[in-house]
Amino acid sequence: MIRIAVYGKGGIGKSTTVSNMAAALAEKGMKVMQIGCDPKADSTILLRHGKKISTVLDLYNEKRQDLKLEDITTTGYGGVVCVEAGGPTPGLGCAGRGIITALEKLQETGAYESYKPDIVFYDVLGDVVCGGFSMPMRGGYADKVFIITSGENMAIHAGANIAMAVENFRNRGYATLGGIILNRRNVPREEEKVQELAEDFHTDIVGTLSRSALVLEAEEQGKTVLEAFPDSEMAREYRTLAAQILKVCGEDTLC
Ligand code: ATP
Ligand code: MG
Repeated sequence: MIRIAVYGKGGIGKSTTVSNMAAALAEKGMKVMQIGCDPKADSTILLRHGKKISTVLDLYNEKRQDLKLEDITTTGYGGVVCVEAGGPTPGLGCAGRGIITALEKLQETGAYESYKPDIVFYDVLGDVVCGGFSMPMRGGYADKVFIITSGENMAIHAGANIAMAVENFRNRGYATLGGIILNRRNVPREEEKVQELAEDFHTDIVGTLSRSALVLEAEEQGKTVLEAFPDSEMAREYRTLAAQILKVCGEDTLC
């Protein structure tokens, strides 16, 4: 089982990128699980034609000890197992705590043993890597962290904070940095700035995604690019990125 956490600034393209990679790997016959760690609970929406799913936290609050694995997982495009951790109503509690509870419930209900996924993606909202938002990179969850950024300064700043958190957790058996994904916004010196970020943290740009109108067109249809435009150049970019990420994690069967 390969376990990957994807972090990056709010709105940078985490959920879209993870969903497209999940779809690409599912198409190759891999068993994929995507876990949204974001109170908005919209990580897996493109795998489910725009339909939202109940969150682990809401279901746990409703069912407590009766919570079952079937309650918290839903199947999406290509058989991807979709989970949304959820979170408290804004202003009424700590969002990070919600993620901790949700991830614990996933383990307690035997999600990993039952589905035996080949690959698990944690899609984590995380400009600030504190409390619950650092949970997926701590022991027992992800093995590798990938950071998505564009060349925009705020995205690079968030990326550096995340990379620093991973570095500070080093030697504790936690996740290590797998690399940087450049999701282009076509700003000046974009590649150069992101390359500098990678060098600062002794890592590499593992893949680059173009800014493409097809991403929004697919989103309008409630789909990934892989599903809506499978023969497009953008779909090919997501497939290449997914293969590259697996390679970094020591699995090069798709390359
Ligand atoms: P949040 O932090 O709010 O969860 P996010 O990082 O998950 O956000 P997404 O929701 O995946 O970001 O993407 C934000 C917007 O950017 C979406 O409308 C998405 O379609 C668009 N987007 C992402 N990547 C690309 C791309 N390569 N080309 C064009 N649009 C993109
Ligand atoms: Mg998101």
